[in-house]
Formats: sequence, structure tokens, C-alpha cells
Amino acid sequence: MAAARTERPQPAALALLGPAPGAPSCPHGPALLFVKTSQGREEGRRFYACSACRDRKDCNFFQWEDEKVSEARLAAREEYNRNHQPSFTHRQNVDRYKNFVLLPLSKRRFCQECQQLLLPAEWEKHSDHQFLCNITTTQLKSPSQLLYPLENKKTNAQYLFADRSCKFLLNLLIDLGFRRVLSVGTPRLHEMIQSKASQEEFNVRSLLLDIDFRYSQFYTEDEFCHYNMFNHHFFGGEAARETCRKFLYEENGEGVIMVTDPPFGGLVEALASSFKKLMAMWRETEKEGHDTKEMPVFWIFPYFFESRILDFFPSFSMMDYQVDYDNHALYKHGKTGRRQSPVRIFTNLTPSMIVLPEEEGYRFCTVCQRYVSSGNQHCEICNSCTSKDGRRWKHCILCKKCVKPSWFHCSNCNCCTLQKHSCGKSDVGCFVCGKAGHKRSACPSLSRTRTAHQPDKKKGQKTRKRVKMGICRRLAMKHAILSKRKVKNKKKKT
Ligand code: SAH
Ligand code: ZN
Ligand code: ZN
Ligand code: ZN
Ligand code: ZN
Repeated sequence: MAAARTERPQPAALALLGPAPGAPSCPHGPALLFVKTSQGREEGRRFYACSACRDRKDCNFFQWEDEKVSEARLAAREEYNRNHQPSFTHRQNVDRYKNFVLLPLSKRRFCQECQQLLLPAEWEKHSDHQFLCNITTTQLKSPSQLLYPLENKKTNAQYLFADRSCKFLLNLLIDLGFRRVLSVGTPRLHEMIQSKASQEEFNVRSLLLDIDFRYSQFYTEDEFCHYNMFNHHFFGGEAARETCRKFLYEENGEGVIMVTDPPFGGLVEALASSFKKLMAMWRETEKEGHDTKEMPVFWIFPYFFESRILDFFPSFSMMDYQVDYDNHALYKHGKTGRRQSPVRIFTNLTPSMIVLPEEEGYRFCTVCQRYVSSGNQHCEICNSCTSKDGRRWKHCILCKKCVKPSWFHCSNCNCCTLQKHSCGKSDVGCFVCGKAGHKRSACPSLSRTRTAHQPDKKKGQKTRKRVKMGICRRLAMKHAILSKRKVKNKKKKT
């Protein structure tokens, strides 16, 4: 398959120099080393910043690479990091859960503000918080419905699969014969597997790796690891790393696949580096022939990152399947017909094995040997099904490739582009979508919030809801990844 690898001029940007040995740590584990670049050249001093939070408000860790840090500041930092760990350990949360399920329905409460299951002795402390009562076993089995999705797009960007997409993924995995799923940032897929396994004869298991520590309330240490996929950090230390390794090693490493759906604003190079480490962990299994084989992976990400992903993983290819989300105004099946989701599956499995649902219009292209969307026409000249976004693309003889239907060939610029463009200007576009007029941080393709894109009609409705949920959501976000309760009257003595 000919992947269109358009080389875009790189705007002034931050370049990641990688997870550096000996890097200082913030509450999210080792920081990453960055440098400012302009026209691809390093400019200025290198510095460390938080790996997980791209918003300074979430974590303001910063240190120059060559900065001398005093003993006192190091000690203070260590103390700060310790204080910014969750108030309960995973073990404590597992014990709490055991006690919680013993309670009669009438005593099962979930504090919405603290995003926490409450034991009766704690009710008092949360008396002025909103809470849910009568938490059923079904609710406990679907924590992603109980917890607020953490939508702050710069850090968690928690966008949950629509049921249809989640079912499709799971059935695909089953049909491909996988028995173990390493779910990296896919809590809803994990939850679907877990609840199936508890209900029926079902021999697929899942291990969830996610930075959202709220999930430790619902899963044991064998089912969930608190993990940062931007620096491959296991918050639970060696024991948690070992859990992951064991999971990959089972059955000699056979029958396992990693499925990941990272925040789209995240640095591809940081993610790729962590995924390579997870893949290396698997490769270390005893199994013969692994040296040449890769651990099977589904990386779910928008199509406009195709060339970036292929840079790091040349064995991957992009599938046409459009992944839909529940709490995502842009990328979900709307009432008014389907909005096309730009989110795809990238995989190192043979494309012809990935069977896409015919009832949704996907068909098999015998030349390309893969399933393609209904609108994706096989181009005789490119000899490939060239559409990336599901619409029918058209071939441009001059550019010698297929282009978006809305583009036309500009003889001035000597390439295909939008009708509306400033001629002759080399378009230093957004690094994410390639369009001019904004930078990566403000890219509308990444903005998955409704307010930014929805017609005004819905805004009022949303605002009202916001006001109501406001406190809870803000607090929940704070607490999910590094929860140290600062709210008065909630101080823990443990
Ligand atoms: N569609 C998936 C959820 C994807 S949203 C599903 O329905 O299961 C992105 C997920 O990545 C969230 O669960 C979020 O908590 C997690 N995440 C965000 N930043 C992370 C990080 N630095 N390390 C690990 N997980 C992270
Ligand atoms: Zn941090
Ligand atoms: Zn073509
Ligand atoms: Zn052209
Ligand atoms: Zn953009």
C-alpha cells in the first residue's frame, strides 16, 4: 500500500529528545527532555518537563538540563512527589472494594465529587458532596459509566468507545484468536472483556494499563496497573512491571495483543518509545522465533498521524475502519446521520485479516488485499485504494497522486490544495493536520469538546449541565491522576 508521506515543513516547535537516563521526576514519573526548534534546528537550552501533562496547570514541573538543583530543592521535590500520590494505595483500594461489595445495596455509595466508592464510616466526611446510592454490581462492572470521563484535552483526553466500536474491536480480537489483551489506555475495552469473562464461558483476559488511578478501585493488581504511556512508567514499581511482564509471558507469549487508544494531542515519539518498550518486554519471552516477530498491536489514532506512526513502525498499516466515541461530539454517530470519525486502527497484523463489517459499507478490495470504506475507490493509476477519510478521492495527474475531493491543482503553487489558499506562500501549517492558521496546540482536529464545534443551540443545554457538573468534574480531574485531597474536612489520617 502506498502511504502518502507528505513531508511538511516543520514549524517552530518543541522537539522531544526522549526519555533521558537520570531524568528528574515529577509526580508522573521521569520527566522528558525537550528542546525548542526552529526549521528543524535546535534552538536554546534543553529542558525537562512533565511527560504526561501538556497543560502547565496540571503539572508545572520544569528544569533546565544543565541546571544545578540544590539538595534542599531535591528534598522538597521528593516530598512534593510523595504528597501528590493517590491517597489510597492500589492494595488499599482492593481491600476497600472487597468490603464494599459485602454491603447491602442501600449502603453502597459513590461520591461523585471525589470519584470514590465510600464505606459507611466515611459518609460523614463526604456529607456535603453529591453522591450516588444503591450502586449495583452491574455499575461496579462498568466503572467507565460510573466515573466521569476526564475530558481535559491536554492531559487525560478520555474519550470512550461507542458500544458499537467497542463490540467490533472485541469481536475482531476474538475472531483473530487472541486470548489476552494488553489494554493500554482502553478502559472501556478492558471493562467489556472483564464483565464478559465474569458472566459466561469466555476465555479472553485483559490487563489495563492507564494513568487514571480511579480504576484501581474496581480492579485488582492483576487486572490494572497505574501506568504512564508517555514515559513507560509503572507507578506501582517493580511489582507492577512484573505483573505486566508475566501477563505478556503467559503461554509463551502466544495469543496476546496490545490495544491502545492514547490521547491524540500526545507526542507520537514518546508514545512510540513506550510501545517499543512494551513490545520488547514481550519479545523477551522464551518462545522461539520471537526475534523476528513483533507483538501484535492495534494503535487507535487519527488518520492524519499516519506518516508519523509509520516513521516509527514501518510494519504498521492503517485500516479504514472508523472508530466512534460516546462522549465525542465530533466523532460519534449523530442523530442527524453519521459524522465521519477520523480515528483509525493502525496494526502490524496482515491487513487482509482485519475483516471490517460489510453492513457498515466496508468491502474487500482484492487488489489491495484489505477491507476499505464504501467511498474508497481503487485508483488505477496509484494502484491503491487511496482515500484516507472515507470520501472518494480524485487522482491528480500533475501531483501524481490522489487528493481530497475538495482540492484542486494550483499551477502557481504547483500542487493540489484548497481553493481558498494564499498563493505562493509556502504554507507552514499545523504539525497535526497540516492546515495553516494555527499551531498544533490549538488544532481543531484534536479538540474533541463540544463547545468548540457545536452549533449554538446546544450550547445552552451544555452550559447548564456544566455548571451542575462543574465542581465535580474539575475535582475529579485533579484527583484522578494524582490525588492528594486538599479539600478541607477531607484530610485523611492514614
Ligand atoms: N477509547 C478508550 C479510551 C481512550 S481515552 C476506551 O473507551 O476504552 C485515552 C485513555 O488514555 C484514557 O483512559 C486516559 O485515562 C488514558 N491516558 C491519558 N494519558 C495517559 C498517560 N499518560 N498514560 C496512560 N494512560 C493515559
Ligand atoms: Zn507531572
Ligand atoms: Zn490515484
Ligand atoms: Zn495536483
Ligand atoms: Zn491543525
